[in-house]
Amino acid sequence: MPYERVQRLRFQRVLLAIGASAVTVAITGLVAWAGYLSTGVAVTYTVLVAAVCVATYVLMRTNLNTRLPDPSLTGPLLVAAGLLISYVAYEGEGARPAFIAMYLIAYMFGIFTLNLRGLVWTAVFYLACYVGVVALSIVFRPATTDFAREGFRIVALTILLAWMTVFGSYISRLRQNLRHTNERLRQALTRTEVLANEDPVTGFANRRRIMDLLSVEVKRARRGSPLSVCLLDIDHFKGINDGHGHQAGDLVMKEFAEVTQAMLRATDFFGRYGGDEFLIGLSQTTLADAKQVAERVRRTVERRMFPSLPAGQRVTLSIGVAEYRPHESLEQLVARADAALYEAKRQGRNRVV
Ligand code: GH3
Ligand code: MG
Repeated sequence: MPYERVQRLRFQRVLLAIGASAVTVAITGLVAWAGYLSTGVAVTYTVLVAAVCVATYVLMRTNLNTRLPDPSLTGPLLVAAGLLISYVAYEGEGARPAFIAMYLIAYMFGIFTLNLRGLVWTAVFYLACYVGVVALSIVFRPATTDFAREGFRIVALTILLAWMTVFGSYISRLRQNLRHTNERLRQALTRTEVLANEDPVTGFANRRRIMDLLSVEVKRARRGSPLSVCLLDIDHFKGINDGHGHQAGDLVMKEFAEVTQAMLRATDFFGRYGGDEFLIGLSQTTLADAKQVAERVRRTVERRMFPSLPAGQRVTLSIGVAEYRPHESLEQLVARADAALYEAKRQGRNRVV
């Protein structure tokens, strides 16, 4: 998944966590309003929750979270939530079931990112938090602590957390499968894009890709900048195939393509148009300049030694050149280059027309 998307997802989760925090603040406020918690504790809880939320928000916004071992901040947030909830649960003995529900609200966030191991640890930690709350109550407030009731609550919380862990691990597995499937789809898509645009023999652009690029250039040319195309065809290529085999023919084609590409500017484009025909698109180039480029390519290839051919056997090209004319379509431009190429063949090959 692209980095920005991952970070956006994390950010969405933080917004959800802030929403859940607001719910717990509301519950705490309600408990205080009903008289089961002192207003001071409720205010302290609200301030601490707000501080955690602001800190998390700032870390995410500034991308500082990406430098931490757990960029999703799940672990630290779950621990902070557990401790803060334990604080109000300890202080608000009269309304502990409401606070037990808050542990479960916090636990739900682990399901987004944690695996089974992380979920089990979170469940154990929350249970330990509540056991700690009860232990502190026994030590410091024995008069108001109801042992049987607290024992029952601990058992209930254990059952709830255990069930949520089973449920969460199922979702965690689904998430993992989804991630694998997405990754495979992404790879398949990349591969398909390459296959759709690349010629397998030479590794250069195929006809479809060249035409896509050219159609953009034609739009530019309609606004007045010159554009030329050269259509190149290897002379007597069938003879190379027949004399030295198809594989040698492929190698010749590949090497010819590499040599030609190396002679072009970064803004030019080049690819296999089909069979032994190649196309060069020259942006910002007039017919006269395009003819010079074509001539240079023709001469370079003519002088070149091809390792897959016997020493002394040369490869020659016939090239048709055309410059874009106002109001012409891309197809008309290429057809004129093709007509020029035909003329070059007719005049005896190894030439530019
Ligand atoms: P001409 O001078 O008139 O161009 O003669 P030519 O022999 O090159 O004839 P033409 O351009 O009509 O034929 C192109 C040949 O290119 C025919 C085909 O066997 C060969 N060819 C097309 N695609 C491939 C390929 O991918 N690999 C190889 N090795 N040969 C190919
Ligand atoms: Mg040919």
